[in-house]
Amino acid sequence: MVNAVVGANWGDEGKGKITDMLAKEADIIVRFQGGANAGHTIVNNYGKFALHTLPSGVFYEHTTSVIGNGVALNVPLLFKEVQGLVERGVPAPKLLVSDRAQIVMPYHILFDQYEEERLGGNSFGSTKSGIAPFYSDKYAKIGFQVSELFDEKTLKEKLERVCATKNVLLEHLYHKPKLDTQEIFEELMRYKEMVAPYVCDVSLYLWNAIAEGKNILLEGQLGSLKDPDHGIYPMVTSSSTLAAYGAIGAGVPPYEIKKIITVCKAYSSAVGAGAFVSEIFGEEADELRRRGGDGGEYGATTGRPRRMGWFDVVASKYGCRIQGTTDVAFTVVDVLGYLDEIPVCIGYEIDGKITTDFPTTSLLEKAKPVIEVLPGWKTDIRGIKNYEDLPENCRKYIEYIEEKIGFPITLISNGPGRDDIIYRNK
Ligand code: GDP
Repeated sequence: MVNAVVGANWGDEGKGKITDMLAKEADIIVRFQGGANAGHTIVNNYGKFALHTLPSGVFYEHTTSVIGNGVALNVPLLFKEVQGLVERGVPAPKLLVSDRAQIVMPYHILFDQYEEERLGGNSFGSTKSGIAPFYSDKYAKIGFQVSELFDEKTLKEKLERVCATKNVLLEHLYHKPKLDTQEIFEELMRYKEMVAPYVCDVSLYLWNAIAEGKNILLEGQLGSLKDPDHGIYPMVTSSSTLAAYGAIGAGVPPYEIKKIITVCKAYSSAVGAGAFVSEIFGEEADELRRRGGDGGEYGATTGRPRRMGWFDVVASKYGCRIQGTTDVAFTVVDVLGYLDEIPVCIGYEIDGKITTDFPTTSLLEKAKPVIEVLPGWKTDIRGIKNYEDLPENCRKYIEYIEEKIGFPITLISNGPGRDDIIYRNK
């Protein structure tokens, strides 16, 4: 059986925690898109970890961690991450890397930096991990698959060709030093050595695993609103963040994905530029940011402060719908325990009209939040295991949001740890 864990919002919903928790029952966990540009924070018996490329199931001895073909693979970072885990006492992961995954080239990172510099105030707020140049090259058909590392002659020829076009841009658009093909080739040979023991025909491996009845989890990065097709284009990421893309980025039949567990945050946070209708500012935002997540809402990869907002029904309803949600995991509910009253954005006012349907970007820029205020519960709910034991106002908050978004909340996360979870039968 294949299940997917994906995000309903702008990312940082707590997918890592939910995947780590669900991985207990899984055999194989697959990353199917994105790269090392975002991170999952996980707190478990080994400590607190920020993962960037490895799937969040990596902490169990019984799981196999797979880097699917849809991932932007930064080879040295992947192995640095593996080393970082082993140094802290985590058993060396059973790792497989798709032979069709493409490689983040050293120049992708340079181009990401140069382009953000060139755009200045109009930049996308990229993490400068090379993700946008990587996916541009993939679809321009000048990317490099892992499998290409093993044919040195062809690799060298292609590298010469690709670097020639890159150098035109470097010289004339960015006014930066040109690429040295030989140097890049040698770097790629180092990548080959690192990755060789793990290379695998992943779609075939997963096909066989499904036939054997194995339990497979697909782990998404970022969330619905960062999807290049359905998100807040162009302030999106460069690969699809949707569960449907899990079929492509891992190479499994779409009909095998049985459960789509969409992780949805009890308030909002976002990084990077773009419209964020329920955003709050000043002391109100600072306090939520300070109390949020596990030790504050700061990027797992970049450390930059996240933008904060109240729960957004319009964005979350859409985010869950576009994922094809079967189950909602509602996270960081404990964080809201300090509030007397909890504002919720229940609609958008656009040109004098109120809507609950998420609009395209140009209209989104004009949207003003319609706020409803719910009573808070003013207690610490960490440690509670049964839904019925939650304070009444907390249950009311959850049920109100469930009704508004229209998808069943079957998991409630009330703390960063693996066991901070409440199962709710629907
Ligand atoms: P991801 O990218 O979706 O995995 O999310 P991040 O790891 O970037 O951000 C989630 C943050 O919230 C992490 O610091 C988690 O440890 C933390 N977290 C996850 N679930 C909960 C929860 O229910 N309560 C609290 N307080 N923190 C949580």
